[in-house]
Amino acid sequence: MSTIGDLTRLLEQIPLWKALRALPDRVAALERRVEALEAELAARPVAESCLLCGGTLKVTDIQPDRHFGKLGLQTHTLTCEGCGKSQTRQVDPSKSGR
Ligand SMILES: [Zn+2]
Repeated sequence: MSTIGDLTRLLEQIPLWKALRALPDRVAALERRVEALEAELAARPVAESCLLCGGTLKVTDIQPDRHFGKLGLQTHTLTCEGCGKSQTRQVDPSKSGR
């Protein structure tokens, strides 16, 4: 006669059963890691992409805007890490959080 205890001991000998029993804990651990990574990603500033090659643009210079600097606007020079070309952006630091 087989009991539930015998059946459980039998199932414990099957590697797939052991893997299935560990699955809820592994999924919970993965969910915590994904949440931590998503929070870290949300905290990072979004890097712009180069319109010419798709490379990452980095701010390499910040100057008061030539026309509207007295109003607080800035001109940011962004240089592409891929192709090395530069682009400029007019930025209002009060709106961009920079
Ligand atoms: Zn580029």
